[in-house]
Formats: sequence, structure tokens, C-alpha cells
Amino acid sequence: MTTAVELGKFSIGVGDRFAHQAKAQLRACVLAAQAGVDAIPVWNKSNREHNIIGSEPSSTRAAADAAVKALGWTKPYFCDADHINLTTADRFLSSCDFYTIDVADAIGKPASATSIDTFARQHASLAGKLQLENVSEPIEITPEMLRSTAAKFLFAVQDAGKVYRKIEAAKGKGNFIAEVSMDETDAAQTPAELLIILAAIADEGIPVQTIAPKFTGRFNKGVDYVGDAGQFRREIHLDVAAIAWAVRRFGLPKNLKLSIHSGSDKFSIYAAIHEATRQSGVHLKTAGTTWLEEIIGLAEAGGDGLALAKEIYAEAYAHRDELCGPYATVIDIDPAQLPSPSAAAGWTAQQFTSALRHDPRSPAYNSSFRQLLHVGFKVAAKMGRRYLDLLDANEAVIAKSVTENLFDRHIAPVFLGKPAPSAILEHAETK
Ligand SMILES: [Zn+2]
Repeated sequence: MTTAVELGKFSIGVGDRFAHQAKAQLRACVLAAQAGVDAIPVWNKSNREHNIIGSEPSSTRAAADAAVKALGWTKPYFCDADHINLTTADRFLSSCDFYTIDVADAIGKPASATSIDTFARQHASLAGKLQLENVSEPIEITPEMLRSTAAKFLFAVQDAGKVYRKIEAAKGKGNFIAEVSMDETDAAQTPAELLIILAAIADEGIPVQTIAPKFTGRFNKGVDYVGDAGQFRREIHLDVAAIAWAVRRFGLPKNLKLSIHSGSDKFSIYAAIHEATRQSGVHLKTAGTTWLEEIIGLAEAGGDGLALAKEIYAEAYAHRDELCGPYATVIDIDPAQLPSPSAAAGWTAQQFTSALRHDPRSPAYNSSFRQLLHVGFKVAAKMGRRYLDLLDANEAVIAKSVTENLFDRHIAPVFLGKPAPSAILEHAETK
């Protein structure tokens, strides 16, 4: 399969909930270019997020276009309709050129017996031991496994095909990037399952350029990886090798690469991700981390900014069940670790930011507090102008945090293989 619009080797998905930080985010990609790597920016926003904020995809497009113009960015950039399906794709058709087709809800729904039979017959030769390139561990597929994987995923991939064809009919072939995502589900997919899923995606004729499996371990929003980092390392190497093999065998687009969702702040596995993807490339989705930098910037500014940050926390705390519900598979909040709003109300700017800023070595860092604020953006959305005016008033301090966070903590370790500089992590302690 050939694709017209191509996503580069390294790309970074950025979220900009209130459409105020696109320039600061793009500046991180400019820094990447200066450091010798092209980091292609992809502004992503899901239907869920647009609904919570009360925004439209055209606003994401306008903010991205304006940032590109302001900074004179001449490399590609994209707007991603994040986690869409057949019922939510429509509103994104005019503004987006990247589509993350989410099939998680369809996993486990049964495809027709005929299509499972046909799939198992046509791909019978996949059964056996596969020795993939650059990994010592082989992948083993039994005929039973081929069938059971088809039974579990075929319907979902057929569903992705319907969504893909709907977008293609509206946008024209080769005019957009297609991703298939399966991350927001309960069970991780093994490298063998990924390989079988890619066979099904090729059968559906989806020219997929990025694929987002669910990996082992927890990829919670805005906090570090929770799980067996050694197992993750083995798995991601196998996943990358399985993708390379599937590209050759099934004729999928040559630049097909992994997409890592909820990819921000996974400091303990960034070295493994860099090592596994330095040849193949990777799409790192970091949505949400920018919004937290906005809150950190406001709190740091003190005065009205700090007061507003505390008010957002108090409201988020009061509505925590409602706010956390839609994100249940991607957050782990320990209610006992959440400070009471009255306690937080007495905090200094330094106390607030050191609880919120992701410095794993700081004793003040509170991952439950951070995750609750991560999903608490609805509170700020309800504040409307009051929130946005404070963003404008404190633009300089916020923009600096946004750029530094993306470049130093994400682009540098994942794309350049440079650990986050300790100066950044120490920043929180010395303030
Ligand atoms: Zn996702």
C-alpha cells in the first residue's frame, strides 16, 4: 500500500485543551529541529474532550494554523480526530487530516463465523514459530490462537474498516493519516496478537500509518508507567519487530509505526521506547500534560492565578466521581492521597506546584492530586473567560513551562535518547 500524506519518523501528539498553547508546543518542535531531529507535531483532541470543553475541531485547526504561521514552521503538521468511531467521525471531517480510529469498544464482539473461518484459512501459514528480526525471542502462533484472536478482534477491525472508508469517502484516498487504536480496553495485546490484528487490518485495506496497542502495565494519564518495566522492554521490541514483519508480509505502509497513547510522563520506560523505536520511529501522544503545565504556571504566578488553581482543585475534588468516570481505564487515583480542598486552600504556590509537578524524586509530589487535576479540565472549561483571561495574563510563564515540559521531558528522552536533564527535575525542589 502506498500513502500520499506521510507521517514522519518521529511525531508528537500534543493536546491543547483551551487552544492557547499551540505556539509554545510548536516551539518544542523547533528546539527538536535545532537538536537534530524532526518531531512532527500532531494536535489531537477527542470527541469526548470537545464535548467536555464545548469546543469544535475547527478551533484546534485554527490554533495550529496560527502557530505554524507565527513560527514560520515549514515541515508537516497535523490535526488528529482522536478516538473517533462511526458515530463521532462526522464533525472532524473538514478540520482534521489525521484520524485515530478507536476500536476498543468493539473488541470481543463476535464477527460472523464465515469471516472468522475465511481469515483462519487465508492466514493459516502464520501458525508456527516466527523468528523476527532484531529480537532473540521468537513469536509463536498456534492454529487455535489464530482462530481465537480472529474471534476476539476481527469484528473490531471490520468496524475500523467501515470508519476508514467513511473518512476516505469524504477526504479522498491518501489525503489523511489513519491510525487504529486499541488502548482503552482492559487486556493488553501480545506481540503475536498485534501481528494477527495487522493481518486483519491489511485485509480490510486500511493504509494504517500508526497503530496503538494496549501495552502491559498501566499507562495512566500524566503520571509514570506502573508495571514491569523489563517486560515492557521485551514487549515493545517484539511489537516493533512484528510491525516490520507485517509491513513486508502484508504490504502495509512502510512507515507504519507504534503510537503510544497516554504517553506523557512515562519516564521510567522512555529509555526502552527510544531504544526500540530509534529505527522504526514512534508517535508519542502526550495529551493532557500541557493543561497541567497551565495550572502549574497559574499557581506559580501566585495571587489570582494561585487562587484559581486552588478553586479548580476544590471543584474537581467535589465532582471527582463524575470527572474520573470516563477515564476509568487510564487513571489510578488513591482517594486517601487526595488533600482536602480546605487543606489545599492553605498551600503556598510552592506547595501547590511541588505536589502537582511530576518530579518522581520529590517527596511532595502527589500522583493522585496530579491525576485528578488531569481529568479536571471540565472545571476550568465551566469557568470560561475567567480561566482564559488568567491564561492570557500569565502567558509568558505558562508558555515557558509548556515548551520545556514537551522538549526536556518528552522529545529529548524519547526521540533523542537523552534522559530528562536533572536540572528540570531539580527545578521543583529548589523553587
Ligand atoms: Zn488513547
